Amino acid sequence: MVHVAEPTEDENRGGVVVAVKDNICTASMPTTCSSAMLADFVSPYEATCVRLLREQGAHIIGKTNCDEFGMGSLNVHSTHGPVVNPYKLGSEHRQTGVEPRSAGGSSGGSAAAVRAGMCDVALGTDTGGSVRLPASYCGVVGFKPSYGLISRRGVVSYADSLDCVGILAKNISEVERTFDIMNCHDHGDPTSLPMRTRGSASAFCDRRMRTMSPHSDLPTPAHGLRIGIPQEYFPSELSQSVVSPVRRVLQALAEQGAEIVPVSLPSTAYALSAYYVIASAEASSNLARYDGVQYGLRVIPPPGSDITKTSRVYAHTRTKGFGSEVKKRILLGTYALTADAFDNYFLQAQRVRQLIKHDFDRVFTVPNALTWTGETADTADKVDVLIHPSAIRTAPPLQRAGGASGSADALDAYVQDVLTVPASLAGLPALSVPAGEGDDGWPVGVSIVGQWGCEKMLWYVGKMVEQTMC
Ligand code: GLN
Repeated sequence: MVHVAEPTEDENRGGVVVAVKDNICTASMPTTCSSAMLADFVSPYEATCVRLLREQGAHIIGKTNCDEFGMGSLNVHSTHGPVVNPYKLGSEHRQTGVEPRSAGGSSGGSAAAVRAGMCDVALGTDTGGSVRLPASYCGVVGFKPSYGLISRRGVVSYADSLDCVGILAKNISEVERTFDIMNCHDHGDPTSLPMRTRGSASAFCDRRMRTMSPHSDLPTPAHGLRIGIPQEYFPSELSQSVVSPVRRVLQALAEQGAEIVPVSLPSTAYALSAYYVIASAEASSNLARYDGVQYGLRVIPPPGSDITKTSRVYAHTRTKGFGSEVKKRILLGTYALTADAFDNYFLQAQRVRQLIKHDFDRVFTVPNALTWTGETADTADKVDVLIHPSAIRTAPPLQRAGGASGSADALDAYVQDVLTVPASLAGLPALSVPAGEGDDGWPVGVSIVGQWGCEKMLWYVGKMVEQTMC
């Protein structure tokens, strides 16, 4: 926790205790995005998602550490220092001499706060996996909703076409309850979808779920459920220690009547590259607002230099205010948007994004409410959800996690996102649920991905996975 709320009178009223990632604006506490650029920044207004929770009696206890502006996979790029994974520090696992491991990122502080029992629920943001990855590493539930359902008003932008507010908690019921409070249209966010679109997606999902056992008297709970296993989600980088827990989950679901179907999403191989081009391009544009003039850090050039030149203020402010990872993304993104590189990088990445969306739409039984043309497709070979490992490995040791730029360890940080970015590019809901431990005794998560707006299906399958762990 990087800021703790002042005790208030309603503290003992028994509302749900919530921690908030430090890139989500709160009016009563600073919002630093773990950046020197915003070290003293207090927002004049509160994010819609925080307000909605508070209005329902939630008690906001503080702000959590994260990678600077949400950029990172291991929560090591932060002015507040890295987040240590509390999994083996908590009471049930207390061990001495355990090598500290990463809590994952960028919402590492939120996952760690839930794992350590500091709060019931924590809000994070997920642009390419920043809620699901730390959830998997810390052994908690992490949920990235369908794009456009939870308002991003008051959430500091990283890459607007991908950013989602996500939820971390110890169990799915808590995540679902929190989501229901925040799942509404907000006029203050132009990307917040109208109730009508949400309604059509819900109707598609309900129609499909009515054909399944929760609404019938069939003997097995998962009867009628078709689970797709995307073959491209078992890349060479995947650690064997992650595979066994995932296999156990699938076996348990099959025993309960689910049909396990291998599927192919052929564009997956290009997702990571496309993601980093798009996310960096959007980030370079978003971060242009930190110029030392309007808010945040301002560095006045040293005496003797020509301070009348505004560009010098920009340069000094941005040199001092941004960390190295953020600077790297600005350079990469600015390059991708230059006239020379635009067609080869940015446009190609957008094409890959379309292919990825088509891959998903092709395999799901439920149509995509955002693009549905009125045709009813044959659902015979299709699946209701996809299941795959949330991460390619368990939490890496912190010592390796801070690898110097260009080193194998630094590259490894980008590869951590390989399984989470496709759902982000397609704007689909994804839920990471703890699936036990790997051979090294650290948590493994499985991800359940569904059609846009079909969160109900994720709760249903996720709760079955949860039960298999009891
Ligand atoms: N690790 C990814 C990145 O650095 C995802 C971050 C996120 O989801 N905020 O871009």
